[in-house]
Amino acid sequence: LVHALNVTKAFHGNEVLKGIDMDVSKGEVVCLLGPSGSGKTTFLRCINQLETIDGGRIWVDGDLIGFEDRGGTLHHLTDKAVAAQRRDIGMVFQRFNLFPHMTALENVMEAPIQVKGEKKKDVRERALALLEQVGLEDKPGAYPAQLSGGQQQRVAIARALAMRPKLMLFDEPTSALDPELVGEVLKVMRDLAADGMTMIVVTHEMGFAREVADRVVFMDGGVVVEQGRPSEVISNPQHDRTKSFLRRMR
Ligand code: ATP
Repeated sequence: LVHALNVTKAFHGNEVLKGIDMDVSKGEVVCLLGPSGSGKTTFLRCINQLETIDGGRIWVDGDLIGFEDRGGTLHHLTDKAVAAQRRDIGMVFQRFNLFPHMTALENVMEAPIQVKGEKKKDVRERALALLEQVGLEDKPGAYPAQLSGGQQQRVAIARALAMRPKLMLFDEPTSALDPELVGEVLKVMRDLAADGMTMIVVTHEMGFAREVADRVVFMDGGVVVEQGRPSEVISNPQHDRTKSFLRRMR
């Protein structure tokens, strides 16, 4: 479903992605691990076109991301075409950036109505079902400020799912939470994985990576250092950089 080829990205001459190749199959859950600054967040943001790439190519579900190929030369897509591609990709950030002046239900309903022009009645039913799916069926009328961090993050997941994405990107979704709230968010993500959602998850939660990921990818210094099944990479890392990172995580 995701095919990234030799992706490069620099900020002011500082090369943050130095040729990332990555393939993610439909229904696969991939956890991206790596030290701070290794480029994990930047790579997710490139997939979702919150950043433009300098080199390489990314395809999602067969579509070249951000460009169209006209007889061998790449041309940037129009803003409208970029928006259409982004609609199919859900993203959940470290900070639960819900609209503060909207209830949980309104947050979940917003994008399908505003972006896709769907009927309010249809969206409302789906949004209520999604709130139930994330265990918040009793909170449709609550405003973000009335919800815990874990509850807000679950609303953020429901909001992303409301667009019926093909792919979900999670950028350290539990790292801003109090420890006692981490489990409820991971549970929702676990259920989503079990439902067959294709997911790329940047996380420092080794237990989650070990149990839920089909594959873990260890990045350092803007390159993929090693990847494989969690049992291989986490339990028996081959590279010194992976070993020292995992030692520090314990
Ligand atoms: P973390 O776990 O800390 O989020 P990460 O692996 O996700 O780390 P990135 O956030 O992708 O790493 O950052 C990689 C590097 O790119 C860092 O050195 C960061 O300072 C730099 N960087 C990221 N975004 C920008 C930006 N918009 N402008 C300039 N530099 C940036």
